[in-house]
Amino acid sequence: MKVFDENTNVDYTFFSKIRGILLGNSLAVSVGKDGSKKRFRRFFVGGFIVRSKVFWLVVLALVVLIAVISCHAPRGIGSAGLDIITPSAPIIVIPDDEYPPYEYDEPEIEQPLPPEPGELDITTETKFIAGRYAGFLTWGYFRHSTGDLAVIESLVRDTYTGAELTLADIIEMEEIEKVLSLLAEAVLAHATDSAPYLDLIDEDWLAHLVIDHDGLGVLLPPDIAPWELGFMYVVLPYEELDETFKLGIEIGIRIPPHRPMVALTFDDGPSPYTEKILDILEAHGGRATFCVLGYRIQRQPETLIRAIALGSEVVGHSWDHADFTRLGSNAITNQITRTSTAIEEVIGQSPPPIMRAPFGQINNTVINTTRDLGYSLLHWSVDPRDWEYRDPDSIYYNIMRRVTEGSIILLHDIHPSTAEAMLRVIPRLIADGFQLVTASELIAYHYGELEPGVQYVGFRNASW
Ligand code: ZN
Repeated sequence: MKVFDENTNVDYTFFSKIRGILLGNSLAVSVGKDGSKKRFRRFFVGGFIVRSKVFWLVVLALVVLIAVISCHAPRGIGSAGLDIITPSAPIIVIPDDEYPPYEYDEPEIEQPLPPEPGELDITTETKFIAGRYAGFLTWGYFRHSTGDLAVIESLVRDTYTGAELTLADIIEMEEIEKVLSLLAEAVLAHATDSAPYLDLIDEDWLAHLVIDHDGLGVLLPPDIAPWELGFMYVVLPYEELDETFKLGIEIGIRIPPHRPMVALTFDDGPSPYTEKILDILEAHGGRATFCVLGYRIQRQPETLIRAIALGSEVVGHSWDHADFTRLGSNAITNQITRTSTAIEEVIGQSPPPIMRAPFGQINNTVINTTRDLGYSLLHWSVDPRDWEYRDPDSIYYNIMRRVTEGSIILLHDIHPSTAEAMLRVIPRLIADGFQLVTASELIAYHYGELEPGVQYVGFRNASW
């Protein structure tokens, strides 16, 4: 390349050969006014500045600037040699003493208190009258730190039908004023300071009734009147309730539950000897269960009526003593319902839903059929074999050596020897402290409500 400046007469080719760093096609030259003696200061070649202190300073400044920026710039994904940001949060470790403890003012939300355990402090009592009606009473407190809560449950059940009796079933509602005045009397006798509250007594005060042994029990909860005596239990005597108590006929007989009881059961009647047995029961104040055959009922309907009037019970023992284990379900059903209907026609009420299978023979068909009909099965725990030993002394001995509290004794009122044996058996059992009750009464006391399809056996003497 030949470079000649006509104004200064300088041939610059010389310089280009010496420095030899001429790149590109653009060249600007700046020289001193004295021409060739001046050394060049700078070349501009294609935008490059070389051999200039300023140039190198600028380059240095740029390098430093890039280095500083690269240190402080956000670290990007994939930058070689830098941390890679992963989807999870970056882990930044800050020394504990660098920042004050992190404090977050949690909004105050009112949390419900966890339930505190309370304690149930209750008493349950079961009372029976004449077996047919069972009374249950539960009362007490659920004791808790927030205060005591009164707990009260009462129930009067007809064990024949399973029905729960209402106030109207128990009390003649037209005579309720008389009952309420008896209640006021009883409350006053129980707590003399209750007089100011007697005016408050109304039907609500009879909400918790139970049939007790000597009268109608009334439980008054602590909150019904402000005398602060807690629960109050008063008894309205049956004799004073008189005709206002609708179950009065049945409760003529009472069973003290603490005394041992046995049930005499007589099968296959009625017969002329049944009347003799009723004479003995009437004379000594005992009751029994008569398991009658349906076909015999119309021969002596008055015997059944008398048995009921004396507090005994009449239940079915099939129509004609057919072995139920040889019958199908329909035939068994017919035997049971036909006999029950015949009993009801005579005594004016349905017999209790329990029956004795002929020969005591049962199988699954018998159990299922009686259960479906709502009947229980009455078995026995003492069999003196009066049908075999037609001897009053043998019968007496066989009973007395085996009888125990809760026994159900199997007998047959079609044999004169059995009726004669009762002349000794009945007074002896009563003298020994046994209450002679019906099978339904004994079951109600010992087992509770009759359960369909269940066979009740009675208690055996452990010594034989
Ligand atoms: Zn029989």
